[in-house]
Amino acid sequence: MTKQVATNITWHEGETSRAERQKNLGQKGATVWFTGLSASGKSTIAMALEQVLIQRGFHAYCLDGDNVRHGLNKNLGFSAEDRAENIRRIGEVSKLFADSGLIALNSFISPYTADRDQARKIHSDAELAFIEVFVDCSLEEAENRDPKGLYKKARAGEIKGFTGIDDPYEAPPNPELHLHTDQQSIEESVQAVLDCLEQRGLFKKD
Ligand code: ADP
Repeated sequence: MTKQVATNITWHEGETSRAERQKNLGQKGATVWFTGLSASGKSTIAMALEQVLIQRGFHAYCLDGDNVRHGLNKNLGFSAEDRAENIRRIGEVSKLFADSGLIALNSFISPYTADRDQARKIHSDAELAFIEVFVDCSLEEAENRDPKGLYKKARAGEIKGFTGIDDPYEAPPNPELHLHTDQQSIEESVQAVLDCLEQRGLFKKD
């Protein structure tokens, strides 16, 4: 748990309710959290889903691991501590997005269960939907794809602490959705996420 450092701060409740924001946007905010090995297809699926949602008139935004590390989290590396802080920050950011009425699509390896559970908790404490999508893909297939050549570097010892090679990946025990991207096409995965969101009433415009 991250320590509260600042003192003399008071929560300022706004004049506008979440319900008003949702009504204005005609949708409910939520966080869809994609977790899985590097190259499992998280970003590919999240970005394809973003396209579909935008085309259907929903407000969605992808928060992508590498992209966020270019800005907000540029001061973080890949130690267990930095990975935890990376996920803590992104959990807080997507909670704000969801509270604003947006559908946040988070694509992060997020290898540790405790860090993902903490992100889930801050959403449930705020009564916001948190949908964990396990983008499951065998290490063998992920390594075959290796779109950024990272597995090759990790196997050669040029990258230390690479998830799946010399750093652990803790699979989610109870995700809302479990994809198998070494067996499903990108389109099938996108459709499965859409179905899951629909079943959870995310698209109800009330
Ligand atoms: P991640 O975000 O998990 O690191 P990426 O989405 O960046 O993964 O890369 C996954 C790569 O695998 C992409 O080049 C994608 O086109 C490819 N790919 C091939 N088949 C699939 C599939 N069935 N589902 C998802 N991605 C796939």
